[in-house]
Amino acid sequence: MGSALTVCHACDALQQRPPIEGYGKALCYRCGALLYRGFPQAYRVTLALQLTALLLFILMATFPFITLELKGSREETYLLSAAAIFFNYGMGGVGLVVAATTLVIPLLVTITTLLLLVVSAQARALRLLALLVRFQRFLAPWSMVAVFALGVMVTLIKLQQSATLIPGVAFWALLALLPVLALAQLSLAAIALWPAVAAPSGVSAAAVTAHQAGLCHCALCDNLAVAATAASHCPRCGSRWRSEHSRQSTVLALLITGTLLLIPANIYPIMSVYNFGRGQPDTILSGIIKLIEAHMWGLAVVIFIASILVPWLKLLTLYGLLYSTLHRGGWRPRERALLHRITEAVGVWSMTDIFIVALMAALVNLGTVATIAPGPGAIYFCAAVMVTMLAAAAFDTRTFWRDVEKSKTC
Ligand SMILES: [Zn+2]
Ligand SMILES: [Zn+2]
Repeated sequence: MGSALTVCHACDALQQRPPIEGYGKALCYRCGALLYRGFPQAYRVTLALQLTALLLFILMATFPFITLELKGSREETYLLSAAAIFFNYGMGGVGLVVAATTLVIPLLVTITTLLLLVVSAQARALRLLALLVRFQRFLAPWSMVAVFALGVMVTLIKLQQSATLIPGVAFWALLALLPVLALAQLSLAAIALWPAVAAPSGVSAAAVTAHQAGLCHCALCDNLAVAATAASHCPRCGSRWRSEHSRQSTVLALLITGTLLLIPANIYPIMSVYNFGRGQPDTILSGIIKLIEAHMWGLAVVIFIASILVPWLKLLTLYGLLYSTLHRGGWRPRERALLHRITEAVGVWSMTDIFIVALMAALVNLGTVATIAPGPGAIYFCAAVMVTMLAAAAFDTRTFWRDVEKSKTC
């Protein structure tokens, strides 16, 4: 076999690396996971998009976001004041998460990607490249610009009946960022950051997986090494080979933590609305009921899906998948892998409610006229969403095919 081999990160299947024309994508023949994409001029397009994103982030951080006018009072809100509002109510942790996921981490991902592009062009600095790729992959799931944009839209619809809202430069910068970041993600997946490696000689053509072929596969740099002689780390990038047993017990611990956090998240109030000093706290559920009473059905459905359906369904699905890896062996591995991919993709949208609370509290901060305050439920909810995201990410989907693969060495 020559150098045109690749290994699926999700199921360990060893396969030929087909060339891609135009904007196509290569999927794993066994589990359907994305292997890589095609994107003409991917390097130049990614560079241009990330530089544009950098400029838009600067506009987003420095210009006014939304101005609210209500009963003669006027309040100009900056993006970071939506995060800072939590500190006023002794909930600084949530404030830091909001600031990090909407601005700081997306900005860091953009800067890291730019550095990564520069370093990948210098084919010799592989350890530095590995460090940047690891950092970028660590941060990327916590970049929530699109989820934040959904939160902004819901907030604007909720408030437009009772107040006048004027979008600022930062608001338009946020909208412009959405297609820029989405395209940049597609084009980045088409760049071959690492020099191709020749597969070790003597690999059996009958082997389905890298493991069966006696190979260790590096999830970071796609390197292949003969398992029998391999050290504990990938010789090219220095990553540790993945071991799955420790990971599945981590998943269980995270799932239990997520469940324990989600209960108080639903019991404690997430937000309180005060009009002329009068008002009452709302839990997630009572907030949805109020939306229905106000005939805002669309918003009620969005909040119900993001804040109740997705978090609980995600926990239950992950429990089920974990149970299946222990007791159901090779049962429908492809479907289970798809279920895991969906679970991982939708989980982040649960943060919508936290962003709505942040924006409402930052915008409606008009002293005795009207004030919206975050409640303690927001702390538990934010933590529950983050812990469940970690659980989905830590899940090793290769275990769905475990019936054919015993005693993994790397
Ligand atoms: Zn696969
Ligand atoms: Zn490696």
